[in-house]
This record gives sequence, structure tokens and C-alpha cells, in this order.
Amino acid sequence: MRFDYLVVGSGLYGATFANLVHAAGKSVLVVDKRPHVGGNVYTERVKGINVHKYGSHIFHTNNKVVWDYVNRFATFNRFTNSPVANYKGEIYSLPFNMYTFNRMWGVTTPEEAVAKIDEQRKAFVITGPKNLEEQAISLVGTDIYEKLIKGYTEKQWGRDCKDLPAFIIKRLPVRLTFDNNYFNALYQGIPVGGYTKMVEQMLEGIDVRLDVDYLEHKSEFDALAEKVVYTAPIDAYFGYKLGYLEYRSVRFETELLDKPNFQGNAVVNYTDRETPWTRIIEHKWFEFGKDEQGNDLPKTVISREYSSEWKPGDEPYYPVNDDKNEGLYAKYKKLAEQEKNVIFGGRLAEYKYYDMDQVIAASLDAVSQQI
Ligand code: UDP
Repeated sequence: MRFDYLVVGSGLYGATFANLVHAAGKSVLVVDKRPHVGGNVYTERVKGINVHKYGSHIFHTNNKVVWDYVNRFATFNRFTNSPVANYKGEIYSLPFNMYTFNRMWGVTTPEEAVAKIDEQRKAFVITGPKNLEEQAISLVGTDIYEKLIKGYTEKQWGRDCKDLPAFIIKRLPVRLTFDNNYFNALYQGIPVGGYTKMVEQMLEGIDVRLDVDYLEHKSEFDALAEKVVYTAPIDAYFGYKLGYLEYRSVRFETELLDKPNFQGNAVVNYTDRETPWTRIIEHKWFEFGKDEQGNDLPKTVISREYSSEWKPGDEPYYPVNDDKNEGLYAKYKKLAEQEKNVIFGGRLAEYKYYDMDQVIAASLDAVSQQI
């Protein structure tokens, strides 16, 4: 049997693509290297708790089309991400807002906060921030940079803040209001019952084969379909022939604890340089600590996240979008453009620090060019 599309990878890009072309009457086969669907949004149920197996995923978007689309497959709860930063035992609100400024400097009004930030950014003359350090100081001053950004960022990226692109820190809002909502998004939440269930809904009625390594059997699979949608790392597709793109990987140490509450919040970031993990996720709080019947869950599951440089065999999580890697990616992209029957999409195939909604938007766009 021949398919119109072979989709490699069942994460959000692949699942969205497969869902929509299938709905348009095309035949589609989805393959995934892992024993489950969902890519890194996969959640696994442990003692009634949906554990975000490959790191926490909080859906947020300003894109109404994307929001309406995902709501066809899941009901989203009202979870709002309000991470806490722990700097050597001092607790700060994130993102950077009036609660953070009050705790840091004792200021109580927006004017006082602005004055404090201005004083600190003036002391550090910046003419157009060229890197993450300059961008951070120009946004929030040196105290916040030193306590809440520098250590976390250097652990997360394994690089000096001066060697990282400024855009990474612009993901975080800076607010002169008392508002701990991490995202500037109109819509936000976690799919009730977990992301796995949502992706399974998207793939309903579609032929999915798991534990399949496409690149190992490329010619056999290519012969099965008119077009390929490839969502795995772009450099792997080309056998790394131009060299390796750099990624950051993450190792999770997950524990089931016999207590109802470990840290009182879904996300606690450890922003000092010495603590070896970047953050601890307490998964039950993404769903308010309740089971589906609304009962309090007696146990809890936590994951400590350790960031590391990716090496062959590891799972890639974050592209490192510095100049060196962007240059190499541009060369791979040129090769990709010559693959007329292959669509490269998603965080790994486009080497982009995409959020979930951006991945879905990109996939919707790719589909619209097909049908
Ligand atoms: N960041 C930081 N301190 C924090 C949280 C984030 O300095 O407490 C910086 C860090 O450089 C990080 C970036 O902001 O890589 C983006 O953080 P985000 O929470 O968006 O990362 P993700 O959830 O995608 O890992």
C-alpha cells in the first residue's frame, strides 16, 4: 500500500499534520522511534498523576486559530504558570514583576521599581544589547541578573551569558504590575487527562507505527509514500555530513514521594549556580493536586531537571541558536530545500526554539500549502 504522506515523528507538528491531511481524505502513515506517541509532550500516568515525562509543557497562546484547533481534542484546565525562583533559600516570584522587585529591593510602587532598574542599567553602559547578559541587564538591572538569571541560564545552556543570543531572555515578560502569570498569553492551560490523550485523539483513525527508526530504514519507508514530513533533527537526516548541530539535552530524576505536597508549586527554579539541577517540577500541581473525580491525591511525583550538552545517543531538547549553529543550520536548510518531496517541520527539523503553539501554527501553515 502506498500512502500520500509518511509522517516521521508523532509530536505536535507531526500529529497536527497527520490529523489534517487525514481529515482532508489523504492517506497517511505516522512512524515514531519511541514506543509511544506525542514526542516530548508525552505524559505518563503515575498514581493518578500525569507526569510530563520529557519536561513540563504548559500550553499558552495568543493564536485563536491554534487555540480553537487544540480544543477540538482536549478540554484545557485553568492552570496558569507562576513559577517560583529559589536563590539560596530566598524565594522570588517569576516572571519579573512587582512582587519580585518588592522582594529584591523593598520597593512598593512601579516608579520606585523603574528608578531602581534604571540606576542599575545606567551603571552598565549598553548600546543595543548584543548578547543575553546585556539584554538581561538592560531589562531588569544587575541584581536580578545576578540572582535570578545568570546562574540558571549558565546551567541551562552550559555557556556564558555573553555567548548566548539575547532573544532567549526576551521569552520572559518584565512587568510593573503585581502579576505572577509567566506568560503574556490570552489562552493558557493543560489538557485534562494529559497531553498523551490529546495527541491520541489527534491521531484517531490514522495508521501509527511505533518503535520504528525511519532513518535506519529510510529507503523502504520512502518507497511507501508520495511525500515525507520529517520532524526529527535536520542534521541526522543528512547523516551529520556537514557536522553536528549543538543541542541541549535534559536528564530527569523522577521520584514518587509518599507525601501530598513537596514544594507547593508546579515549577520551582533553582537560580543559583551551585545547585546542580535547574528546576524541580511537581507534576500534580498542573492539575491542582486532584484526580479526575476531584479528590486530593495522597502522593506526589517530582522531577529534578539536569541540563547537559547533547551528544549522539542523547535526546535533543533545545537547539542552541548561536551564530555558529545558525550558520551550520543555514547550510543544512539549503540541502533540505533540494529534497523536493520532504517537508521539514518542528523544533528539531527547523532548529528553532519553538513553543507548542508555534509548532502547531507552523504545521497548520504547511498543511494549508498541501490541501
Ligand atoms: N531564565 C532565567 N531564570 C529563570 C527562568 C528562565 O534566567 O528563573 C532564562 C534562561 O535563560 C532560560 C530562558 O530564560 O533558558 C527561557 O526560560 P523558559 O522558562 O522560557 O524556558 P523553557 O521552559 O523553555 O525551558
